[in-house]
Amino acid sequence: MQYKTDPPRLQAATDWPATREEGLQRLSDFVDRAGSHYAAERNYDFGPEQRTNVSVLSPYIRHRLISEAEVAAEVIAAHGLSASEKFIQEVCWRTYWKGWLESRPAIWDRYVQDVVHLKNADAQNDLMQQVRVACAGETGIACFDAWARELVETGYLHNHARMWFASIWIFTLKLPWQLGADFFMTHLLDGDPASNTLSWRWMCGLHTRGKTYLARSSNISEFTRGRFPQTERLAPFAEALTDDGQLENAQPVKPRKKLPSGDVVLLVTDEDLNPETLTFDDARVRSVVMLSGLEHGVTYAPRVTRFKSAARLDARARGARQFWCTFENLDCSDRHAAERLVQLANGLPFVCAEIPVGPTRAAFEPMLDVLNAQGLAVHFVRRDWDDAFWPHASNGFFQLKSKIPSVLQRLGISG
Ligand SMILES: Cc1cc2nc3c(=O)[nH]c(=O)nc-3n(C[C@H](O)[C@H](O)[C@H](O)COP(=O)(O)OP(=O)(O)OC[C@H]3O[C@@H](n4cnc5c(N)ncnc54)[C@H](O)[C@@H]3O)c2cc1C
Repeated sequence: MQYKTDPPRLQAATDWPATREEGLQRLSDFVDRAGSHYAAERNYDFGPEQRTNVSVLSPYIRHRLISEAEVAAEVIAAHGLSASEKFIQEVCWRTYWKGWLESRPAIWDRYVQDVVHLKNADAQNDLMQQVRVACAGETGIACFDAWARELVETGYLHNHARMWFASIWIFTLKLPWQLGADFFMTHLLDGDPASNTLSWRWMCGLHTRGKTYLARSSNISEFTRGRFPQTERLAPFAEALTDDGQLENAQPVKPRKKLPSGDVVLLVTDEDLNPETLTFDDARVRSVVMLSGLEHGVTYAPRVTRFKSAARLDARARGARQFWCTFENLDCSDRHAAERLVQLANGLPFVCAEIPVGPTRAAFEPMLDVLNAQGLAVHFVRRDWDDAFWPHASNGFFQLKSKIPSVLQRLGISG
């Protein structure tokens, strides 16, 4: 098969320019291979220089530099849904995790509390020393150590490597899953509160109750094409963890609301850096405020912070071409940020792309209280994709999966 670009560009998966243009280019490069090639090859981890069998779109989708809907539309236009079903389902795993966590925000709050508790309670003792050894890639388990270093050095791991890594972390090294999830959140360019936390919970049998994932030497050898031929010391079985199932009681996701008509101030967060493709009903954007520093419960590695800052700059440049109005930057970690936002509102209501459950929302909520106390409303814009899929995400993935064709049709995405 002829691909649109030369392999060297496709292999450059260790370099991550944080622009929408780069995300669109990666999508265009990958689209030919999103059908049967992806279905057959996606589980192989050939190493950081050879990512041609997966899309490496996750940092772009995570910050919505490109959207799930755009990705699905392009892939389905090229292959039809049937031939690209596997790829579309993977994109929908992301949507499923987002929708599932949205209806169970307590899971995120508990995870953040657990991380703080584990780090503080064990600051002096053996556990944190073992965690440091694991994160430094010094356990003596060659594949695990290589992935720990790859994550820190590149900001990315292949999906299968994430699964093996998490399994070894939990079942072989017997470390708390929350600290592994925290290590991922710190270093992954695509670190996402829903996909990450819930994938780690899934690994230890907390999502599909009792169903765990065990990393096996033969499987690692096969799917790394012999890069790690023999892994010793792996746990022979993976016993499911248990926790307080009450946290899982789902609250219905709030319905989408119509925006006010008239002038508004647009707030842009790292959760959706594509303001120019939002729909605002009858609202008119009079000014834009780019928010940074909304990070409650996570600490990002410098590489991740740089990616987010560059992506924000890119969003600002695109937004400036679209909206022709004043732009302000606001660092929300500044203690006067809420007051400044009140000034910037100039009496107008705010609109903002929906901020899903996670560190950004947790950091924004206290500011929201201040704004509301000043009589300033913030109206959240939910994208059609989320609005259509999230109602199907409250139970298992297979419920949502069965709805993919009909929801895509409703969204006008069909081959
Ligand atoms: C323990 C663990 C932690 C993870 N943490 C994250 C995370 O923080 N952020 C994140 O985006 N993904 C996470 N994933 C899911 C998955 O590993 C990555 O989305 C995928 O590896 C990204 O590479 P890609 O863009 O080449 O994916 P592709 O295989 O090309 O898939 C296309 C897109 O679909 C989505 N996707 C694919 N697989 C999954 C999946 N299993 N779950 C959710 N979405 C998926 C991603 O947006 C991805 O960009 C995690 C998986 C595990 C097992």
